[in-house]
Amino acid sequence: MFRTSCLVCQSSNLTKIIDLGIQPFADTFIPEPRLSESDQVYPLSCDLCNDCGQIQTSCITNPQDRYILQDYSYTSSNSSFSRNHWEDYAKVVVDKTSLEPDSFIVEIGSNDGYLSEQFLKLGHRALGVDPSPYMAELAKKRNIDTVVEVFEPAVASKIHAQYGEAQLIVANNVFNHADAPLEFAKAAADLLSTDGTFIFELPYWISGLETHKFDQIYHEHVSYFTVTSSSRILESVGLQIVDVQLVDYHGGSIRVFAKHKDGAHKVTENVRVMMEEEKSCGAFDPQTYSQYMNHILDQRNKFLSKIYEIKAAGKPIIAVGAAAKGNTFLNFYNLDSTIIDYVTDASPHKQGKYTPLTRIPICGDDKFAEYDEVYALILSWNISDKLKIILNNINPKINFLSLPD
Ligand SMILES: [Zn+2]
Repeated sequence: MFRTSCLVCQSSNLTKIIDLGIQPFADTFIPEPRLSESDQVYPLSCDLCNDCGQIQTSCITNPQDRYILQDYSYTSSNSSFSRNHWEDYAKVVVDKTSLEPDSFIVEIGSNDGYLSEQFLKLGHRALGVDPSPYMAELAKKRNIDTVVEVFEPAVASKIHAQYGEAQLIVANNVFNHADAPLEFAKAAADLLSTDGTFIFELPYWISGLETHKFDQIYHEHVSYFTVTSSSRILESVGLQIVDVQLVDYHGGSIRVFAKHKDGAHKVTENVRVMMEEEKSCGAFDPQTYSQYMNHILDQRNKFLSKIYEIKAAGKPIIAVGAAAKGNTFLNFYNLDSTIIDYVTDASPHKQGKYTPLTRIPICGDDKFAEYDEVYALILSWNISDKLKIILNNINPKINFLSLPD
């Protein structure tokens, strides 16, 4: 079923701006015993609200199907790159928000508890909220308790009653997963102490627009955030953005700092500057996206002719990085197991499984050592330089293919 109204302002004045064809859930990898089952697939397209600038997936999918029925495989501590990111994150936000020792921190979308564990190490109390029972089990091994629920006002009031209000709420790469972003924001506002800080980080829509990378678009991401849309959502529940930072994660993310509107705080200049830039780059103009779609379709045609040439010469192609964004790319390009021999990934949670719909087997990077002549298609383009060094050590004869810009 398609959404008929904006999740933020309820307007039905929506324009379809992006169409990536029929796609499965991107963050669901298929274990061997389930290979005979069919994948759930839905049209993957995005709508722009002409009234408020909200960008959202057109198709409604069930969050139960997205996270609970399947083995949701992304873990925060997936790679040394992500571990470093979260270790650094904990130090930076504790410092920036001048948290008193033993503060109560709630992490929404706490995943395997890696970030919450960093807060414990810094002398604070941390509680996770995550709908995945599997991830809650992993977090328990790090001494992190998890409320196994989708974050919403009823869950916030339950936490409030049991633990008190939170001095800091962090939500990384999760706000965009919410089917009801206003309810999510309200829950955060309800749980946050008077002078507390709510920080969320997620892929920045403008980064994808500027680089022609569309691979942060997938069913699990319901809303696509700009500073403008973040501000509108937060204001509707009595919160206000006090600062925004651009961070180099997931190929360009924003880290948004918000507080209760009526508190004593300053708003940094870059909040206004970024909102003006978003308007002037055409992010809220449907015309921008017809050019964008033409560009990515054109790039696909050129890139596929190169791929078919390699396959016609009988050479193997191994993709690198079994991440959700890689699945959007593979499915939009129709690159399945008949073309891509393997996908490599460092995560033991993914090795031995298969990519959704394209059904490419996932294995470790050491697969590259088995070939004399082999092509590597780096799907995790944002860490491409680091991956090339690792892969060259395994096999110095690898030919690298870069994703089109
Ligand atoms: Zn709207």
